[in-house]
Amino acid sequence: MGTLFRLLIIAAIIWFIYSLIRRAISPPQAQNPLPSAPLMHQCAQCGVHIPEGESTQSQGRFFCCEAHRDLYLQQKP
Ligand SMILES: [Zn+2]
Repeated sequence: MGTLFRLLIIAAIIWFIYSLIRRAISPPQAQNPLPSAPLMHQCAQCGVHIPEGESTQSQGRFFCCEAHRDLYLQQKP
């Protein structure tokens, strides 16, 4: 009984040390960096900033809507 108990204690101590060493070697995963903000573009017509996904692009310029794109192209063909 005494020997078995001692073996269990030794096993627990070894497991404890092993887990400590493992934690020291491989630190917890770094937090994922925050998702980067969407790229913003300025409407060439009204100057409003819009995310790239919602902007309308024409001739290398960005617009907040198709109406402003058409207006801009009419004014500056
Ligand atoms: Zn606009």
